[in-house]
Amino acid sequence: MAPAVIGIVFSATAAAPVYTDKNAPIEKRVEDALSRMTLEEKVALCHAQSKFSSPGVERLGIPEIWMSDGPHGVRAEINWNDWGYSNWTNDSITAFPALTALAATWNPALSGLYGKSVGEEALYREKDILLGPGVNIYRTPLNGRNFEYMGEDPYLAGEMVVPYVKELQKNGVAACVKHFALNNQEQWRGEVDVNVSDRALYEIYLPAFKKAVEDGGAWSIMGSYNKVDGQHACHNKRLLQDILRGEWGFDGVVVTDWGGAHDTKEAALNGLDIEMGSYTNGLTSESNFGYNNYYLADPFLQMVKEGEIPESVVDDKARNILRLIFRTAMNTDKGFGSKCTPEHYAAAKMIGDESIVLLKNNGILPIDPSKYGSILVVGDNAVRNLTQGGGSSELKTKDYISPLSALQSVYGDKVKFAQGYVAGRPMYGHVDQIPQAVQDSLRAQAVAMAKDADVVIYVGGLNKNAWQDCESTDRESYELPFGQNQLIEEIIAVNPNVVIANITGNAYEMPWVNKVPAILHASYLGTMGGASLADVISGEVNPSGKLPYSIPVKLNDCGANYYGEASYPGVIADYDYSPAKGGPAVKGKEQPTQTYMEDILVGYRWHDTKKIPALFPFGYGLSYTDFEYGKPVASAKVLDENGKIEIEMPVTNRGNVEGSEVVQLYISDLKSSLPRPVKELKGFDKVKLAPGETKTVKFQITPEELKFFDDKAHEWVAEPGKFKALVGASSTDIRQTIPFEYK
Ligand code: BGC
Repeated sequence: MAPAVIGIVFSATAAAPVYTDKNAPIEKRVEDALSRMTLEEKVALCHAQSKFSSPGVERLGIPEIWMSDGPHGVRAEINWNDWGYSNWTNDSITAFPALTALAATWNPALSGLYGKSVGEEALYREKDILLGPGVNIYRTPLNGRNFEYMGEDPYLAGEMVVPYVKELQKNGVAACVKHFALNNQEQWRGEVDVNVSDRALYEIYLPAFKKAVEDGGAWSIMGSYNKVDGQHACHNKRLLQDILRGEWGFDGVVVTDWGGAHDTKEAALNGLDIEMGSYTNGLTSESNFGYNNYYLADPFLQMVKEGEIPESVVDDKARNILRLIFRTAMNTDKGFGSKCTPEHYAAAKMIGDESIVLLKNNGILPIDPSKYGSILVVGDNAVRNLTQGGGSSELKTKDYISPLSALQSVYGDKVKFAQGYVAGRPMYGHVDQIPQAVQDSLRAQAVAMAKDADVVIYVGGLNKNAWQDCESTDRESYELPFGQNQLIEEIIAVNPNVVIANITGNAYEMPWVNKVPAILHASYLGTMGGASLADVISGEVNPSGKLPYSIPVKLNDCGANYYGEASYPGVIADYDYSPAKGGPAVKGKEQPTQTYMEDILVGYRWHDTKKIPALFPFGYGLSYTDFEYGKPVASAKVLDENGKIEIEMPVTNRGNVEGSEVVQLYISDLKSSLPRPVKELKGFDKVKLAPGETKTVKFQITPEELKFFDDKAHEWVAEPGKFKALVGASSTDIRQTIPFEYK
């Protein structure tokens, strides 16, 4: 008997496959699982099985992958096979502030808290990949998706994305950093061919993605819809093979944007791993359960079987996908997550609080209730749930505190409300047509009420309707929509005590800027948004947000828009699809093409270098207190190749209330062989100071911070010569200058 028992025990142990052993090295597990899989099973991993999931290997107990948007909270459950919501009763969540708000906090610790919290909610909802965060650079204020990204500066976006990714992934939920790359418009996002110089690509558009991959360790990345150098980004050899995997060593999964794949061979050979959201007749419509028609499904299998594509290509994709499954779906150490907890609401509130930017204040803010008998709140955004609409980032919130209800909690029945204008429902690709008579009567009512109020708090801005801050459409104008400029002007004419507290994911034109005493600039702040706004208005919270993007005076003052339509949104060019030009023989589709003519001069780099001042510059934001920047001390005047310069500078709160200041370090290269912007952000630190308190801010400069991308040599170069370190409260408010030399 004994040998038989031993035999059974032995074979049971031997039978436990390595891939199921969580303590085995992940690459061993990957190879082991791969060795047990059929070709068909490997190919199946590479494409969707439903709108938001892809298969595992059921036979081997390898689970499927479930994905969800992203990036501001976990999206409500979507049907298996169409875009309808499933109407579950247990999928409402916390809406966190938009990423543009997160960037406006300039607080990487809050970004970590964001990732941790949204990750816990994703885990609770049993998601393996959260489709976010987004780090496309804010290039033009017309881009409908800027609110999903982290502003115009690659350094700021890079510093902010890393903690989000790291903390999110600690939950066993993968980040999917999007949209890689050069998806800087929505108007023609599906087909526009983007031309950009290597310098702009490497210096402006790639660094935040690179940081997310190299420092954040992102487990997945989403290709974008557009083309780059004539090839769709979701199967773009240069982006995916050469840069992402080759230069950055990415070992995660490349997922398409939904419907972003267009060609089996390119998708197979150029580094795509999972194809999602394709139209299954290959063109414009879907057939039910047609997932086997995907480019990376049966057509892929057939090409491998026929020897047109080597099996090693499938193996590489399967390896990437298995690795992700072991990190997420098959991670037995992950917990259960949680949603809508007091901690998550507190995190959303803190991020919202720190994101609001005070653009102007003649002393009317904070609003002291003892000074005013009646407070009129005007504006559709005071009552609209701004988590709805906007496209894929839309959220179903368990709770939503509107600005009006929060202001009522603070100021009680002193508060009256007039809508002032109506914006219609948030619908994807459609807008409600509002009769002018309705707008006129709402405006007249608001103006009449404003006349009788002691102070007016105006809560308007953009919203998540199509052609506003919304996926798939860009804004049609730089103006505030829905006749708000007229409304604001008419209100100011009857009552000068107007606080503008606009909610927007973008810059907008402010023709009334000099006529109002105070302006607050808030982004979409989610569940707790109204409370954050009301607390800043009342002074419960001292504003400390700084603009993550410039606000140009007028649209053409923005570098991307300056050069006209060739630069944005592009022109519909003749396109030769004939095989003679190396393309497939397809006719009849026009090709929009766009050239980033401002090149590396994006945002403040443009305003500074071209001497076209912004209305409110990048990095700008006021406080209810004043900060004094003391004399900086630098550890050296000369920097060498392996050296560093440390800068220490005292900052003092000279006012009567506690406040936080974002101290910014810019570097200016005085002479270089290639053109450079006047200055570039290379460090920042947010310090919280009690009244009268002084703290020392420290920065470190190494040759890294001096480099530009030499496109001819294809490398980052620090050139010897003279530099200046500029320490300031915004990109234009430079308080201290420290000259140094690089030898
Ligand atoms: C968006 C992505 C999103 C995906 C899934 C696409 O239209 O561009 O950002 O993650 O849909 O909803």
